[in-house]
Amino acid sequence: DYVPGGYHPAYLGESYKDGRYVLVRKLGWGHFSTVWLAKDTQENKHVAMKVVRSAKSYRETAIDEIKLLSKINHTDPDHPGHAHLIKLVDYFDHQGANGTHICMVFEVLGENLLSLIRRYKHKGLPIKFVKQIAKQILLAADFLHRQCGIIHTDIKPENILLEIEDVEKLVKYLEDSQKERRLLRRVSSKLKSYNSDTSSNSIDDDNKRIPFRKSRKSRRQTLVTGSQPLPSPLRSRSNSSFVSPLQSSISTFAGRTIGNNINPSHASHQDLQSLMSKTFKESDPFSAEPPREDELEDDDLIRVKIADLGNACWVYRHFTDDIQTRQYRAPEVILGANWGCSSDIWSIGCLLFELLTGDYLFDPTEGPNFSKNDDHLAQIIELVGPISRHVLEEGFNTKRYFHSDMRTLRQIKNLKPWPLESVLMEKYKLSETDSREISDFLGCMLITDPKYRMDAAGLSNHFWLNDCSVYGYIDHEPGTRGEDVGAGCHSHGSLTDLFDE
Ligand code: ADP
Ligand code: MG
Repeated sequence: DYVPGGYHPAYLGESYKDGRYVLVRKLGWGHFSTVWLAKDTQENKHVAMKVVRSAKSYRETAIDEIKLLSKINHTDPDHPGHAHLIKLVDYFDHQGANGTHICMVFEVLGENLLSLIRRYKHKGLPIKFVKQIAKQILLAADFLHRQCGIIHTDIKPENILLEIEDVEKLVKYLEDSQKERRLLRRVSSKLKSYNSDTSSNSIDDDNKRIPFRKSRKSRRQTLVTGSQPLPSPLRSRSNSSFVSPLQSSISTFAGRTIGNNINPSHASHQDLQSLMSKTFKESDPFSAEPPREDELEDDDLIRVKIADLGNACWVYRHFTDDIQTRQYRAPEVILGANWGCSSDIWSIGCLLFELLTGDYLFDPTEGPNFSKNDDHLAQIIELVGPISRHVLEEGFNTKRYFHSDMRTLRQIKNLKPWPLESVLMEKYKLSETDSREISDFLGCMLITDPKYRMDAAGLSNHFWLNDCSVYGYIDHEPGTRGEDVGAGCHSHGSLTDLFDE
């Protein structure tokens, strides 16, 4: 991929835009780009820089992404959803060995919601956090849909990033802890030769940041993206995240004291290893265990932003009908019917279920006699009942999956209905009240007809979110169904001129 038209072979210390930005560390990568932590030497702060592959099609997509991001930047900053979308701060061309690359500069954000799901070991986030995240995403979606005329089309945990409270402090912390690691490794390898103890290489293992490299829970599909995110320390159970790991326990190397009571001339290799792994595990925000429901305090608040507008489009100008990541794909998209803003709402419903339980809501697989789409439609019907007749009539592909009665699936005969409320109670052991309230809330997003699905503003005022301590209110009745947001709008370029430039 690092060939003409491909990724730019970026390296640490490389400078961009006549020396203004200098690369510090890789943050992540996707199909289109690599993303770097960079120092903005002009503003003396850190930024995230996305370096796009140079081939023409990637460039064109990147130009669309910049237009969409600019619309966000220039639209009503007083709307409470504005704060929950990623902000583009600069963009420019960079000449590299593999061609000209568009670079986009963003504020630095932290890990994505998939890492948080993993940190909670796929057992679900505390309900309090889910409410806060739900409200913020819904405010952001209303801003995107109604104010900007943009559909995201790829809402999923990987594309929602946590905010970092103090980026500069965090970067400094990471630099310090890296220095300390290096120091300890030096001491330790010296001792290794003194003690001729060659039994273990677990120090290197410790350096691998294991939790974030693991592949997704086996049943998740392989990602085309990767990340080496900056951690976004939640207040964790056992630590104060910003105390440099060894600050308190190490004095000096030269002063021959390592740790509170380990003297290097007497310490064994194991002593140092255990000191290292202990101190790093306890205070490394990557491996910190996040708080459980019963450990939350009143002012614990998680803040998120919607990122990756790389697949987004205009309400009145769709770029493709091939949208959304499988598990978050709405029925109208599967069936080839009209789709619009409300297709994002379906994805948000799937996403929130996943935050609550740690499992996908729909995870279709193909079998010997049926396709993924067959299975997907079957799973939807089992959960929320028959698919709206109107969507079936409109869908280009309906006949492929349904008999002519438009009720029964061709390939899958035995459906086992299991409504959401019972799933939450029986499988996830939620209380009766929680199960009822949550299924009422998610049920409004999982309506199969996009015309009747509730819109983001209405959902942000749903009673389930009343106690969620997130600032922001949109004057919009709960129960509204997107009449004013082009909910099921389908159009190829008819009003393009209105939105271009
Ligand atoms: P692509 O369009 O190539 O998929 P993304 O915008 O999704 O690119 O970015 C790829 C990855 O880079 C993300 O999944 C995320 O891990 C990381 N990333 C992107 N933007 C930021 C940011 N502003 N701050 C921190 N990490 C980011
Ligand atoms: Mg991406």
